[in-house]
Amino acid sequence: MRAMILDAPRRALRLDEAKAKSAPGPGQVLIRVGACGVCRTDLHVVDGELAHPRLPLVPGHEIVGRVEALGPGVERVGLGERVGVPWLGWTCGKCAYCTSGRENLCPRARFTGYQIDGGYAEYTLADARYCFPIPAVFGDVAAAPLLCAGLIGYRALRLAGEGRRLGLYGFGAAAHIAIQVARFRGQEVYAFTKPQDKSGQDFALGLGAVWAGGSDEVPPVELDAAIIFAPAGALVPAALAATGKGGCVVCAGIHMSDIPSFPYRLLWEERVVRSVANLTRADGDEFLAIAARIPVRTTTLAFPLEEANEALTRLREGRLEGAAVLVP
Ligand SMILES: [Zn+2]
Ligand SMILES: [Zn+2]
Repeated sequence: MRAMILDAPRRALRLDEAKAKSAPGPGQVLIRVGACGVCRTDLHVVDGELAHPRLPLVPGHEIVGRVEALGPGVERVGLGERVGVPWLGWTCGKCAYCTSGRENLCPRARFTGYQIDGGYAEYTLADARYCFPIPAVFGDVAAAPLLCAGLIGYRALRLAGEGRRLGLYGFGAAAHIAIQVARFRGQEVYAFTKPQDKSGQDFALGLGAVWAGGSDEVPPVELDAAIIFAPAGALVPAALAATGKGGCVVCAGIHMSDIPSFPYRLLWEERVVRSVANLTRADGDEFLAIAARIPVRTTTLAFPLEEANEALTRLREGRLEGAAVLVP
């Protein structure tokens, strides 16, 4: 099969046209990949900002495909079924986190496209217990960004609370889905892009943001909560300054540049800063059901599998509207 391989961080992915296709082990399924989204986390892995990836590695954790073979003992999914494979690829099921509904924090968790080969390939193996059925309303390409950008955005929304005025910092793949869920929940969205990014601001307004501006601007109203999707620590004090008493600022990325020091008054009056780590399977089931009900429309740009490096470059340079998706 064809696969894009990371041999070492900070190196371009290499096309392997004859990678061996593995047979599924106990509890695993072999999936023929229909589409795989390109997530900012892939960029952090390729750029060496996330330490110790399995090498050589097939990146990719927004996988949509069809089950082509079942390993021994698989009962949850059937042959031919269309499933999605997210970032959370395996958890221990026994630790204090796993047994209290917080498997996203399992210290032994293994992640797709990081410690487990992912979806930048024609085929992939996945643990059947961590696959989600994909609602029929979504095509393969449209569904791919839901698996991480959508899901992590949903978890971030939940943790940001029910406040009416919500700020979204960084308007890429995750925010363009989160705004649709937020509006469905009756929230007003204030979108922050890079300063002077007129096309990003128009994209946000087109999706129903009540206001869009640069991250260096002050919104016209005080926010009840904010989610930071951009990996820039300087946005934390900026978001706190824009958020009212008791408001929550959620950092939704896995990696962020250092947060500059800031005066305590920005945090005073019960403001909260928190991060969101990974996802649970319950988040996935809940989000995919609500995404189908809305229904969420993803803006995607498809690339052939071989052009994974080009897709990563465009994401790194901020030259993407919506989400890049690889199609093998
Ligand atoms: Zn665990
Ligand atoms: Zn991701």
